[in-house]
Amino acid sequence: MPSLNHTANHPFRHPANQTLLIDADDTLWENNIYFERAITSFISYLDHRVHTPEEVRGHLNRVEHATVVAHGYGLHSFRRSLVTCFEQLTDIPITAEKHRRIESFAESIADQEIELLPNVATTLADLATRHRLIMVTKGDPDEQTDKLQRSGLAPHFTAVEVLREKHHGAYRTLADHHQCEACTTWMIGNSPRSDINPALAAGFHAIFIPHDFTWVLEHEVVNQPPSGQQLLELAAFADLTRYF
Ligand SMILES: [Mg+2]
Repeated sequence: MPSLNHTANHPFRHPANQTLLIDADDTLWENNIYFERAITSFISYLDHRVHTPEEVRGHLNRVEHATVVAHGYGLHSFRRSLVTCFEQLTDIPITAEKHRRIESFAESIADQEIELLPNVATTLADLATRHRLIMVTKGDPDEQTDKLQRSGLAPHFTAVEVLREKHHGAYRTLADHHQCEACTTWMIGNSPRSDINPALAAGFHAIFIPHDFTWVLEHEVVNQPPSGQQLLELAAFADLTRYF
């Protein structure tokens, strides 16, 4: 009797034992919406007499860009960006009380419960029965591993990588470290700039799962995959089980 081919009921599925590199923030769980809420509170607190809220937001984006270049990703950088933005847009000195208030907007993010995106837990559990799953995120290692522990998703991953920046060189180093074959390795995430384009540049396939509230600093046009590499766009995380 022929062995049951698991792809028979799943015509689009790739064979077992693919390596799936999976982003975390705004791919597995909500993240950027908390920053958006904190920024809205910050702008309303600043209540600028000259600049519109949109102008304050534009300035904060530029400050955040400079801060992450100098200090990396994470809440410590966000806290620093809010204080810098406040200092640059006002001519009044920041009192200790104002400082505490501004920091409280960043603290509100640290206090958030982990909110998984729809069907993430069941989808990961299913994928992990057939494939090797590696979480690939960036930011502050303590913050990211803490979120992973609180998410309850850690048992599904064989490894976790928290990169300082997700550029194509970092993906290549990671591939060497975990012995990933380019032809069976896929990067899955919501960010064109950090997940899709550099993974394609590193020689992997990629799966783009857009999130409506992706951080503006992650926006970029999605590149066409080089010849021999695949790029898919899926509407929801659960759609991965159709292909893997
Ligand atoms: Mg992300």
